[in-house]
Amino acid sequence: MVSNSRNDDPKEANISPILPTYTRADLAVERGEGVYLYDTTGKQYLDFATGVAVNCLGHCHPHLVEALEQQARRIWHCSNNYRIPGQERLAERLTEATFADTVFFTNSGAEAIECALKIARRFHWATGAPERFRVITFEGAFHGRTLAAIAATGQEKVLKGFGPPVEGFDQVPFGDIEATRAAITRETAAILVEPIQGEGGIRPAPPGFLADLRALADEHGLLLILDEIQTGMGRTGRLFAHELSGIEPDVMASAKGIGGGFPLGACLATERVGRTMTAGSHGSTYGGNPLAMAVGNAVLDIILTPGFLDQVCSVADRLRTGLLTLSKKHDAVIDCVRGVGLMLGVRIKGDLGGFVARARDNGLLLVPAGDNVARLLPPLIVTQEHVEEALSKLEATCHNVAVAAQ
Ligand SMILES: *Cc1c(COP(=O)(O)O)cnc(C)c1O
Repeated sequence: MVSNSRNDDPKEANISPILPTYTRADLAVERGEGVYLYDTTGKQYLDFATGVAVNCLGHCHPHLVEALEQQARRIWHCSNNYRIPGQERLAERLTEATFADTVFFTNSGAEAIECALKIARRFHWATGAPERFRVITFEGAFHGRTLAAIAATGQEKVLKGFGPPVEGFDQVPFGDIEATRAAITRETAAILVEPIQGEGGIRPAPPGFLADLRALADEHGLLLILDEIQTGMGRTGRLFAHELSGIEPDVMASAKGIGGGFPLGACLATERVGRTMTAGSHGSTYGGNPLAMAVGNAVLDIILTPGFLDQVCSVADRLRTGLLTLSKKHDAVIDCVRGVGLMLGVRIKGDLGGFVARARDNGLLLVPAGDNVARLLPPLIVTQEHVEEALSKLEATCHNVAVAAQ
């Protein structure tokens, strides 16, 4: 790891030209092709990090490149004061494919969450209960980096130094329905939850938890908001992860994979809730711009192709089986394997950073997460051969780590 800062003394005015908010690995990215990423020295990496579940169709997918290039010659940007046909088309397709009736486009996940939180307040305000503004969130959550999103995230590491936190968030243990029930007051507006916690360490909601939350929300007149920013767009083998639980939210945030690498997010809602967001109540300069819409539509073309998600499920099964075998063989290194579809995590017994760095040296990119978990977030286009390649690189990594520990 190298620091962005040229000088470790914060008092010295010798800051990196890039605000030093990231600890970056010493890998300078040059280009990508399919599941592979190349650094400026020409070294090849099997990319199971995908920009944290963003490049869902790998790098430079020909269909996405084509869509972006064609759109770049037509029009890049205009304002939402005009009709944007690509936006109408993408919104129609997303509402057709999901629980939602209406969509607001953003440029990032945090903005999609922000929109969802505003919708929750606005809905209760518009339906005669303006006192309802509080949102119940869960320990281990991650919802983004805006002031409201860090308050929703509720973790010391993202809140520290940015106080006072935005008012109105109550956090309870993930998976604890009784604690959730106990946290409801006359001021509660909504429950916000990730079907599988991503940054928190690939922690799936316990079986039945989402259905219990849905029932609780209905019982108390609360909105159920899902953060599917990481779990959505085919990652779990379904278009959105909540489909596996048989429930539907009132509001849902999407981002990451939805743009396949182009900055794009979306907040989806039912008609009942969405219609309270009247003209002028919310906006975004870039949100839903023609370039983003062209790529978003192209991503959907592929993901909605019949059989595509079946292929995701079968390759995911192979990866999971391989990881389970590996974890048994190297039980001194790997504690457990968890996750759904191509959103998988291996919990490491020793130093997580060291494991991820060794995997990188071996040509495999992983993403560290909470709870000492290394995330595997391969592009949805990975084949059995890529999975075998990843497993052999992981095997080598376990071996390296075990030898180093001796
Ligand atoms: C990445 C992520 C976000 C934040 O998205 P940004 O595009 O970085 O703002 C929010 N929630 C979840 C679950 C995420 O994985």
